[in-house]
Amino acid sequence: MPQPAPASTRASEAGPDSVPSRHRIGILALQGDFREHADAVRAIGAEPVLVRLPRDLVGVDALILPGGESTTMRKLVDRYGLCEPIAALARGGAPVFGTCAGMILLADRITDGEEPVLRLLDIAVQRNAYGRQLDSFESDVEIPQLGAEPLHGIFIRAPLVTDAGPEVEVLARDESGRPLAVRQGKVLATAFHPELTDDRRMHRLFLQLIEA
Ligand code: GLN
Repeated sequence: MPQPAPASTRASEAGPDSVPSRHRIGILALQGDFREHADAVRAIGAEPVLVRLPRDLVGVDALILPGGESTTMRKLVDRYGLCEPIAALARGGAPVFGTCAGMILLADRITDGEEPVLRLLDIAVQRNAYGRQLDSFESDVEIPQLGAEPLHGIFIRAPLVTDAGPEVEVLARDESGRPLAVRQGKVLATAFHPELTDDRRMHRLFLQLIEA
């Protein structure tokens, strides 16, 4: 009896009309700007998967934690039992990208005595510490890895990274030298919101972590 061909062979035999399999990027969709991240994920040619329950994580290649309100997200992550499944996904090597509130969820330490949530990134953050005078502001962010053209950074009650461990690569700093974008292994985070602009370079950088 002939054995069925392995899936990869079958896919290549499917002919020129076959759609190449796209990366499936989960987006935590409990609260916050997950729709904007879904648009960005589509724009870079990947498939967004909205994650609300642990079972939604099955089969995703990576995960995005959006901007929003980290206290609300933390409660919902607890209520739906997502903390351990997300940590397990990251331990299994899946890249994770957090923006603003998402960065807070990833942090190992939160100042002012708040309990950390996922502890996947060796940084300390202080919530709402940028823009004390002005809740929201926009500022150019230079990220040499993404080319000479600065990113347009949108900051909304953004967290301040007050400490970064030795394994953490700082991709961008503010004019006082404080980290604005960081990477530790396959965990990426920004204090600002790249999902709120049409510049997809940060999401493409995340895609590179998935393809690496
Ligand atoms: N200030 C929010 C928090 O602490 C984060 C704001 C944002 O994601 N834009 O959760």
